[in-house]
Amino acid sequence: KNLVITVDGPSGAGKGTLCYALAKKLGFALLDSGAIYRVTALAALKKQVPLDDEAALANLARHLDVEFLPEDNEVKIILEGEDVSRQIRTQEVAEAASKVAVFPQVRAALLQLQQSFANEKGLIADGRDMGTVVFPDAQVKLFLDASAEERAKRRYKQLQTKGISGNFAQILAEIEERDFRDRNRPIAPLKPAEDALLLDSTELSIEEVIAQALDYIRQ
Ligand code: C5P
Repeated sequence: KNLVITVDGPSGAGKGTLCYALAKKLGFALLDSGAIYRVTALAALKKQVPLDDEAALANLARHLDVEFLPEDNEVKIILEGEDVSRQIRTQEVAEAASKVAVFPQVRAALLQLQQSFANEKGLIADGRDMGTVVFPDAQVKLFLDASAEERAKRRYKQLQTKGISGNFAQILAEIEERDFRDRNRPIAPLKPAEDALLLDSTELSIEEVIAQALDYIRQ
């Protein structure tokens, strides 16, 4: 059976960095499921599909023309022939993604695409419902959390390194708003799978998180 390791948790907890490191260390492929929701949201914004029209959004999700091209240090994301790897990372798209992700029909439409990433060499699946819904039979499940303040602090610093001076209070408010939507939606709410290992990175460096995750995986 294909080996799958799921990593769920709220935005900004360090999942992306952890998953990238694990995939590299173990030689596994990587599924960034958030990118799939972001691409769906971007397609809706481009086609002016209203972000509250569940049926239209689900139809869009079912017919997504998207490609994931693994390159040296990243995966290029191509939507209808256009490289949208940068475009999907904006705050606007993040917010839109968390809105379209609320709808059961949209989530159902994206299920198969996500599951198709499972393969013989192994998969690290990064998201919100990887261990609970998309890969309930995964052999290893991790849930990476951190306080909202700490996640906002990291985001603030990350923006600073890019020469952008963000507003801390605003960043924190956006994180809390997105968390609220992710945790309180009717299906696949953000929560740890019953058999997931909980890791809290609030007081840990990313190196410590990676080390603890690898210890657990190798047990
Ligand atoms: O992880 P990322 O910030 O890229 O995810 C963007 C949004 O997509 C999240 O805020 C969440 O609402 C949604 N998402 C989801 N289920 C996943 C991954 C992402 O609902 N498995």
